Amino acid sequence: MTNEDISRVKDLLVPAKKIVIVPHKGPDGDAMGATLALKILLEGQGHYVQLIAPNDYPDFLKWMPYQEEVLIFEKEPKKCAAHIAEAEVIFTLDFNSLSRTGDMQQPLEAATAQFIMIDHHQQPDDYAVVTYSDVTMCSTCQMVYHFIENIGLSEKITPQIATCLYTGIMTDTGSFRYRSTTSLTHKVIAHLIEKGADNTAIHENVFDTSSYGQLQLLGCALQNLKVVEELRTAYITLTQEELDRHNFRKGDTEGFVNYGLSLKGIVFAAIFIEHKADKIVKISFRSKGTFSVNDFARRYFDGGGHINAAGGKSDLSIEETVDKFISILPDYKTSLAL
Ligand code: 5GP
Ligand code: MN
Repeated sequence: MTNEDISRVKDLLVPAKKIVIVPHKGPDGDAMGATLALKILLEGQGHYVQLIAPNDYPDFLKWMPYQEEVLIFEKEPKKCAAHIAEAEVIFTLDFNSLSRTGDMQQPLEAATAQFIMIDHHQQPDDYAVVTYSDVTMCSTCQMVYHFIENIGLSEKITPQIATCLYTGIMTDTGSFRYRSTTSLTHKVIAHLIEKGADNTAIHENVFDTSSYGQLQLLGCALQNLKVVEELRTAYITLTQEELDRHNFRKGDTEGFVNYGLSLKGIVFAAIFIEHKADKIVKISFRSKGTFSVNDFARRYFDGGGHINAAGGKSDLSIEETVDKFISILPDYKTSLAL
């Protein structure tokens, strides 16, 4: 953050303000961790804070501190829109464009509040008075930690705040293994443990709470795994019928895409998941090395993200979506073939 941004934030936060905090649609551990941590911090400073998620988030995050106070826009649009209209300051966390909030985009665009963006995705839009964007950061949670440091409130990090930030850093770094994990990330993590984050409990809460159906669905996904060996690519499909058969719940497929990348020699992995109700196929892309799935998702599948992790969608059928994917792959022969 620049000194100018830091002063602007400090000025905006006196006196007590009505604040709304927003994660992206389909909130993940980083989005929920960052928004909850900031909510707890700002409430501790006497502000009136409402956290509004565009839609619901997975059960494996439903143990997080203060998550029961989150409003879900999809469930209570009128109430949420009123909070947005009344807000003086709106923080948008872990996304780079208001379009990532789904149906919340319109009330957010109509809001009179001053926006502050904290985010680590590429190519941020220009809607905020303070844009704290850093694509080298592993997670928005690490950025919120630095944001708290920058505005001089490190001493106010409670065990609950530390827990939220630890969770987001852990989930966005694949448990501290992705290349974006730096020595500074580990220093931040060490400090969060000192501040009261119970690292073992957090790992267990997030990773060791699978349902039987979820493991069966993983089995189905692995049965469906296909490999395009000459292009070092692997992909998985899951149809609505397969999801239904295993009592699919939001979040159950989290991490499945990574199994493709765990195959020896594979550098590009995708998972295609049919969402019949929304008439779309949701896609996750992952890569190793220099192959940019952000570029790939932006160019062909109406999405984006980071170099090694991105998402997108398609309104074709799942079969047509996969056919499209396979037909595009040879264009990337120079970067994907050995
Ligand atoms: P995931 O595959 O875990 O849903 O998302 C991986 C990364 O890509 C995340 O950083 C996420 O924010 C981003 N992402 C996922 N879906 C979309 C999308 O539809 N559009 C854009 N711009 N980014 C996405
Ligand atoms: Mn993130």
